[in-house]
Amino acid sequence: MKKIAVFPGSFDPITLGHVAVVNRALPLFDQLIIAIGDNADKKHMFPLEQRKKWILDTFKDQPKIAVEIYNGLTVAFCQQINAQFILRGLRTSADFEFERSIAQVNRKLAPEVDTLFILTEAKYTPVSSSIVRDIIRNGGDVSEFVPKEVRY
Ligand code: ADP
Repeated sequence: MKKIAVFPGSFDPITLGHVAVVNRALPLFDQLIIAIGDNADKKHMFPLEQRKKWILDTFKDQPKIAVEIYNGLTVAFCQQINAQFILRGLRTSADFEFERSIAQVNRKLAPEVDTLFILTEAKYTPVSSSIVRDIIRNGGDVSEFVPKEVRY
């Protein structure tokens, strides 16, 4: 059976922290779907299609990666595409506590889908999409934190 993982997130925008998690997880799976949640409750800086294009451009040479937009529960999306794994990145203990409850609830909802975590590389621990958005809003340079494909 093909090993398929979903890496869900907002990717508003994708950062080098996300890229490092993806690159380290790739050898584990046959296919990795980077899945952008279309969450109407969240305020976004960049439109969905723009976020999707940046991810596609960043990983254009990687045939194992696909990018999808999804609505609703992440586990329902995994079931729909026959993905057995959810991939998440961990930076801090706060990330861990948040992710732990989501992963445990997801497991109740869909026992056949397991969540795997990859610890961030130390240099990317402080990097988050929200900090990147703050820097952009205030006219700063984010080139150290995002892939070069992210141009706005
Ligand atoms: P969400 O809104 O679901 O948190 P994000 O796009 O912010 O979506 O993050 C998606 C995933 O990437 C999450 O698992 C998050 O913990 C992880 N992540 C974000 N930034 C980093 C980073 N710098 N290093 C490692 N993982 C990260």
